[in-house]
Amino acid sequence: MSHHDERTFVMAKPDAVQRGLTGEIVSRLETRGLKLAGAKFMQISEELAHEHYAEHEDKPFFDDLVEFITSGPVLAMVWEGADATRQVRQMMGATDPAEAAPGTIRGDFGLDLSQNIIHGSDHEDPGANEREIDLFFDDEELVSYERADEPWVYEDA
Ligand code: UDP
Repeated sequence: MSHHDERTFVMAKPDAVQRGLTGEIVSRLETRGLKLAGAKFMQISEELAHEHYAEHEDKPFFDDLVEFITSGPVLAMVWEGADATRQVRQMMGATDPAEAAPGTIRGDFGLDLSQNIIHGSDHEDPGANEREIDLFFDDEELVSYERADEPWVYEDA
């Protein structure tokens, strides 16, 4: 594994799907130079929602969060690249779109804290990326390959 093989879990949430923003989200990550390693268009079950958001179980917004994330299909993805987890979080912007900087995905497309377009693994929680990838994907659903432009993205590729 080279230093640009870090994988992170990303999800276009139900509001992004309903608003036709999935292509835009994929496009931003793809043109940044991050590499798509897996994708699944799916409906999240109540059980999976509880597992994925287990850390928020005791929060007052938990029931609404589960209802929202199970309310329609999502695009679950794995993206790979140098420092991918932190880079995606930076591209997402702050959790509350009202606070997210313009130029970030949430800052450009959202206005509401609960309907904030995109999920990305927490880079401050070591192992969160691997945990979330395992929760949503089997190993054989993830693909390792060279992208043609890698030598133009990474000097040492
Ligand atoms: N959320 C919410 N109300 C809050 C805090 C969070 O509805 O007061 C939702 C929001 O959709 C957020 C998700 O719960 O994306 C998970 O919260 P977290 O703090 O993990 O933020 P994230 O990692 O998604 O930026």
